Amino acid sequence: KAKSAGRNTLMFFNPAMAEEMLERHEIEIDLRKACTDGTLELYYQPIIDLKTQEVVSREALMRWRHPTRGLVPPNVFIPIAEQSGLIAAMGDWAIRQACKDAASWEPGISVSVNVSPLQFREPRRIVNTVKEALITSHLESRRLMLEVTESLLIEDSKLALSVLDELRALGVTFALDDFGTGYSSLAYLSTYPFAQVKIDQSFSREVHTNEASKAVIEAVCQLARRLQMNVVVEGIETEQQRIAVQLLGAHRAQGFLFGRPTPLVTIKGPNGKRSVA
Ligand code: C2E
Ligand code: MG
Ligand code: MG
Ligand code: MG
Repeated sequence: KAKSAGRNTLMFFNPAMAEEMLERHEIEIDLRKACTDGTLELYYQPIIDLKTQEVVSREALMRWRHPTRGLVPPNVFIPIAEQSGLIAAMGDWAIRQACKDAASWEPGISVSVNVSPLQFREPRRIVNTVKEALITSHLESRRLMLEVTESLLIEDSKLALSVLDELRALGVTFALDDFGTGYSSLAYLSTYPFAQVKIDQSFSREVHTNEASKAVIEAVCQLARRLQMNVVVEGIETEQQRIAVQLLGAHRAQGFLFGRPTPLVTIKGPNGKRSVA
């Protein structure tokens, strides 16, 4: 019987669970080193103005080049980083690196950096990191956009808002990421200082098959226009999707159709526009 085997055995877990725990533990140990050993990388994906077809900004997407696992995607390591407290250091690194990278781009192009809600639990830390990163890189603050998800606003909206305000005072702007996936309260759009709302890729994927998805894109675009926010529709993969979301009123788009996330070297061309080629 499991009970008589004592508390410190794996009897209560099935083998698959045990293996998964072990793997997470291994990843966590390696991730701890990754914060300082140069194996974290930022890839960049262009965000396009649908009217002009020009790149207006690039989103920094973190990658981890693990010695044996290869390139690990963020959906695997970010949750582990969040649970182990490593996200603060990794998030600091991403902000600094992205500012440094963006400072060498064409002056009109800004950079978006994803920020975990957990980074807001240490207000002094994130504010200081952003300040320092802007000063060190000489990047104009209006060229830095921080992408947050609504979970930030659900947890402790008062604290979140005060940190957002403090960062905004530096000249930084904000995007509400993955809109439409959670509660997606419209109040978030009007109450918080977002310059941009990003409609989740699940909506563009269904733009031709689901009337409701179409309606959501259209409604969010209308609201955003009234509130003077930009809309980015994420996950545009086909020409038909591009045309559809543009007709529904989207200003901007991001997706494999325009460019996949790529390492910095490949976007450093003579005119910096090679990423969309
Ligand atoms: P996200 O911020 O919503 O980023 C968009 C994700 O969609 C990226 O996945 C991107 O590669 C993918 N994507 C873009 N266009 C297309 C498309 O046309 N089709 C499809 N199928 N996918 C597309 P990625 O790079 O794997 O990142 C996943 C998530 O991990 C991000 O979602 C973000 O929430 C998180 N993440 C990435 N980098 C960071 C980071 O530096 N810090 C934090 N806290 N989170 C990060
Ligand atoms: Mg994002
Ligand atoms: Mg997103
Ligand atoms: Mg996402």
